[in-house]
Amino acid sequence: MKPILFLDPVFKQMIWGGNRLRGQFGYEIPGEDTGECWAVSAHPNGDCVVREGMYTGEKLSELWKSHRELFGNSDLDRFPLLVKIIDAKDDLSIQVHPDDAYAREHENGSLGKTECWYILDCPEDAALVIGHNAASRQELEEMIRQGRWSELIRQIPVKKGDFIQIDPGTVHAIKGGMMILETQQNSDITYRVYDYDRLTGGKPRQLHVEQSIDVITVPAASAAESVKPAADLPKNTMNELITCDYYRVWKLETDQPFSFEQSHPFLIMSVTEGAGTINGHPIKKGEHFILPDGFGSVKLEGKMQLIASSIR
Ligand code: ZN
Repeated sequence: MKPILFLDPVFKQMIWGGNRLRGQFGYEIPGEDTGECWAVSAHPNGDCVVREGMYTGEKLSELWKSHRELFGNSDLDRFPLLVKIIDAKDDLSIQVHPDDAYAREHENGSLGKTECWYILDCPEDAALVIGHNAASRQELEEMIRQGRWSELIRQIPVKKGDFIQIDPGTVHAIKGGMMILETQQNSDITYRVYDYDRLTGGKPRQLHVEQSIDVITVPAASAAESVKPAADLPKNTMNELITCDYYRVWKLETDQPFSFEQSHPFLIMSVTEGAGTINGHPIKKGEHFILPDGFGSVKLEGKMQLIASSIR
């Protein structure tokens, strides 16, 4: 019988962070400017540790190296996914990520970054920055170099329960007030296009203008293609939100006992609302765990909302 791998998150203080990871999720956060909870991560910048059971104290990156059978004997060179909860008290910088090919060449063999967002909470009339309004690369470059941000940046209205896929090359920014569950490739490569001229310790954060101009997709995908409403999906079933080259993501809401077979190389689950049990083990909002390969039957009981992911 393979164990459920419960993980302890790693927290990141950010210029734009807040304290809702404590207020809404009950985490012990390091400060009132905590922006990110790295909930399932084997990245060197925040490697989660197993909380209980036979692998207590082991880092996810170590388990990936020494117990690959837990992950379906995948031949990938690192744990492929990273799941975060983001508390944006303030606007995040406007940014873009490279794809694998660009990152391999320019970022020391790192992976590129495809990511997706499930909006856990947001203000009324919220909007995200997704895409841009430049018609050609030349126009994009002019708008960036001349700082014509309001012309360049495209804002799209969103609401709680929306799901957004952010492919490499997509200009994007999370806006103040949002709480988001992010599922992404295991990479930390971000090119900052614009940071609202904010200062940290008296200095602006570094921008990556040349790299951004290199990697931004022109023209941007349409606004309609970018946002998928996922607040009211059928209950007690795995609702697939996305399948792409790097991950699959599902949303599951339970209000009665729900059983399924864990048939993926591994399955990450994050409880984002409610409380209940998994195969009799209590779980609640804010907990994240991995069901290993060959885990078999899973029985969830309770009233919960979960976001799950795997590589296929
Ligand atoms: Zn991003």
